Amino acid sequence: MDIGFIGLGNMGAPMVRRLVAAGHNVTGYDVMESAMASLSDVKMNISSDILAAASEQEVVISMLPNGEALIRVVESILPVMSEGACFIDCSTVDISTTRRVAKLLKDAAIHALDAPVSGGVGGAVAGTLTFMVGGSEASFAIGNPLFKLMGQRVIHCGIDGAGQAAKICNNMILGVTMIATSEAFALADDLALDRQKLFDVVSTSSGNSWSMSTYCPAPGIGPKSPSDNNYLPGFSASLMLKDLTLSQEAAAIHGTPTKTGQLALEIYQEFVESGNGGTLDFSAILQDLASRAKDK
Ligand code: NAD
Repeated sequence: MDIGFIGLGNMGAPMVRRLVAAGHNVTGYDVMESAMASLSDVKMNISSDILAAASEQEVVISMLPNGEALIRVVESILPVMSEGACFIDCSTVDISTTRRVAKLLKDAAIHALDAPVSGGVGGAVAGTLTFMVGGSEASFAIGNPLFKLMGQRVIHCGIDGAGQAAKICNNMILGVTMIATSEAFALADDLALDRQKLFDVVSTSSGNSWSMSTYCPAPGIGPKSPSDNNYLPGFSASLMLKDLTLSQEAAAIHGTPTKTGQLALEIYQEFVESGNGGTLDFSAILQDLASRAKDK
């Protein structure tokens, strides 16, 4: 397939590598020279002109930081995209921008999919991402073979915006369980309960979650995770804050009571704003909670 790929950052670049390795003809574009240069060893076209990257492509994929970047990109490429082509946004953005973009595209006879991912940079490199997809059956049929190349699990969640809805619901649970798991480790420290013993009990008991058994925030315990690598991301606390902000914005629009989601947002906000928290993995919230417990 002829594919344009816009946004060649931490996630976009390894996703492009997998598409090229599978034989697709990819043209990449990014606003940052360094992002484009990071793919100079790959057999693909790199264009410093966004219109060249989007015109005459069967599919255009974007992997951008936020909704403002997404709307800017879509408005600029819309006039040059081929009728019947498919635009797939893999970024995590707010649902209202996603739906606005889908309408703009569909009005121009272009297929639209929102397809945010879970699995982080490691999953993008290994091709083990989970794709949660919103859009019509016909659009999904175009994107699905590409999702299978870049990921392990693909779930068609529903109509436009359903992929973003699934993503923010999942990450609200993730933020809350990471904080709860970290609070339990801090409490265990105060109760002189060995952290390994807490892990052994909880990871096989009713308090278990992905935050405990797969991505344990306590170093040296459980499978290897960012806590074993000085909390280098992984999935940064600032990205978690971004996703919790998106879920709370959506909850506010719909009047959904999400009190623990709100509390998780406030806890990550404080962490990110207090020094270098934002550049650390989101599981580093344990360090913060444990040091507060010591200081009290
Ligand atoms: P990143 O900042 O590394 O990459 C984003 C890229 O988009 C950058 O290279 C930037 O220069 C480029 N960009 C910004 N505006 C642009 C524009 N107008 N035109 C073209 N390029 C533009 O971010 P990332 O970590 O790759 O994340 C991308 C998206 O994936 C985000 O929405 C993020 O929330 C989501 N996500 C990230 C992770 C992760 O672990 N990093 C996991 C799941 C989802």
